[in-house]
Amino acid sequence: MFIYNESMKSTIRKSTYKAIYRLLNRVSPLPWDCGSLCDSICCTCGGDQNILDFQMGIYLLPGEEKLFTRKENWLKWGSSNASNGDFPDTWHGKVHFIRCKTPPVCPREQRPLQCRFFPLAPHITREKTLQLILSPLVLPYSCPLIEKKMDLDPKFIKATYTVWRRLVQDPLIFDLVDYDSSFRREEDLHIIC
Ligand code: SF4
Ligand code: SF4
Repeated sequence: MFIYNESMKSTIRKSTYKAIYRLLNRVSPLPWDCGSLCDSICCTCGGDQNILDFQMGIYLLPGEEKLFTRKENWLKWGSSNASNGDFPDTWHGKVHFIRCKTPPVCPREQRPLQCRFFPLAPHITREKTLQLILSPLVLPYSCPLIEKKMDLDPKFIKATYTVWRRLVQDPLIFDLVDYDSSFRREEDLHIIC
């Protein structure tokens, strides 16, 4: 049964999400601030909108909303019905979206997962193997890390892969990555690992 007002059930506990945030707090795409290459364009493009869904904001993975109080004064909250969006058939109910009000400034340790992974994205092959690729999203700006195929910090790649290996154990998250991957399996992807 479809229940719009309920968040989707996540098998990932709040404590696991916290541990994931802690792990990713220690890494970034380059050993220095890549925002200096581009004026942090992925944060600031579109005002309070954002890279990963510049129409609607940054979507949270199922259960990730447990890490927020919704009283954070740097965030605006929204939600969408998964059935109306570009999500797998197994997704029903509420998908949470946030927009930050003061980009590119935010409490770094609280930024959502989608901000932490970029410019990497998870990809599931036909054989159901997890890979990390450079984000193939069509963006309204150019990310130098993607355009120049710059070498990313190995610690960032390793931590991001470790996190995705855990995240895709959740059936809904696996379905999302598999669904997104299904549209690009014929494309020439830039595989990182
Ligand atoms: S990830 Fe790309 S677009 Fe975002 S701040 Fe770094 S270099 Fe700029
Ligand atoms: S939450 Fe932080 S990292 Fe993410 S888009 Fe906003 S300012 Fe950038």
